[in-house]
Amino acid sequence: MQPSPFTEAISTLASAGEIWIFSHQRPDGDALGSSLGLGLVLRQQGKKVRIFNQDPVPDLYHFLPGQESVEPVPAEAPGRNVLLVALDSSTWERIGPVFHAWKRPPGLNIDHHESNTGYGQVNIIDASEPSTASLVMRLLDDAGWKPAADAAANLFVGLTTDTGSFCYRGTTSRTFQIAARLVELGADPSELARECYQSISPPRFALRRLALQKIQFLAGGKLAILELDPGMFAESGALASDTEGLVEEALTIRGVEISALFEIRAGGALKVSLRSKGKYNVSRLAQEFGGGGHPGAAGINFAADPTPNQQAVLGRLLSLFP
Ligand code: 5GP
Ligand code: MN
Repeated sequence: MQPSPFTEAISTLASAGEIWIFSHQRPDGDALGSSLGLGLVLRQQGKKVRIFNQDPVPDLYHFLPGQESVEPVPAEAPGRNVLLVALDSSTWERIGPVFHAWKRPPGLNIDHHESNTGYGQVNIIDASEPSTASLVMRLLDDAGWKPAADAAANLFVGLTTDTGSFCYRGTTSRTFQIAARLVELGADPSELARECYQSISPPRFALRRLALQKIQFLAGGKLAILELDPGMFAESGALASDTEGLVEEALTIRGVEISALFEIRAGGALKVSLRSKGKYNVSRLAQEFGGGGHPGAAGINFAADPTPNQQAVLGRLLSLFP
């Protein structure tokens, strides 16, 4: 019988001399929460662990225990004795260009994206899991490695942010069971909610206000369109990471089925974020344009030609509402 990927992952982690943990660039709550949660538990197991991201930890997540130890990805790959672990990253490229340039596949790839390409040597991919953090928790349970309060708080943040505070489809009784376990282990839901949802910076709010002033409703109010350009960042003083949560805002409106955010970057790249209340699978649509994600939350990245690419995606979105 083939060993299960969980068994293989646990023995790979247990036998590693040193472990380096990576997650997708422009990290969100789940990328950071799963990285720090796993990293802190492994450190407690006596492992030498380093945690990396291509981009700095956004201000909003400076409350996460252990976040000060997150390092930028170095130009050189480490020696072969170091186990590389990728978390919450559907493709090898999503970890960022510096890591990708090492041309060394991660030993372990743990993710809950349906579109994960299985680029690791050992892959734990489960799209039925609402967050990478909860998938990590399953692995820790299997291994018998108990998170301390600091790790539990990180895993809870990954779980609450990726489930939209336990609201998105994919939230099941098991999700609440894992959340309950994390609370028992020391995660404080009200304190973490205050940090995650009631602590946005004034520039982030200013950017949100600029975007919402120009929101457009198409397809009889079923499709909401938001746009961001470099001028709006300059005017608000917001950072690149301050877009998190904006596209979800339009879904709060009754009748809106899909919300799309088109973000034109200074160099002419275009980032599209798509969110659906559930009737439409935006991951499938994103994949038609080389993007991906989950049925309810997906994205596309275009390197250039923002205007024609935006028109093409918009046309396809409108075709969903004949
Ligand atoms: P966001 O809009 O928050 O950046 O991303 C929403 C979801 O879509 C996340 O699960 C993210 O991993 C995925 N996603 C965003 N951009 C891309 C992309 O360019 N390619 C793929 N494969 N997935 C993406
Ligand atoms: Mn995630």
